[in-house]
Amino acid sequence: MKRKKALDMTGEKCTLCFEGRLEAKRGREYFRHGQSLVVIEDVPAWVCSKCGERYHLASVYKKMRQIAADGDHLTERMTIPVARYHGDEAA
Ligand SMILES: [Zn+2]
Repeated sequence: MKRKKALDMTGEKCTLCFEGRLEAKRGREYFRHGQSLVVIEDVPAWVCSKCGERYHLASVYKKMRQIAADGDHLTERMTIPVARYHGDEAA
């Protein structure tokens, strides 16, 4: 089976802050699936060294969507506190 070489964005300039460089890292992603939020650990990403923006391959997004939709991959449940912002600032 032929496999396309994976795109590598390591060392590229961040397109958000235009200052940082991207580093390949794995980390936790909060993926919204319908009404629920699924936490997916160990997701491959490129992270900006300056602003922390995360970049994913389209195939990684697709995989996260599959994982979030498929309950078989759930390893644990965590409780997430939800709060509403309140303050005097104008919207
Ligand atoms: Zn950046």
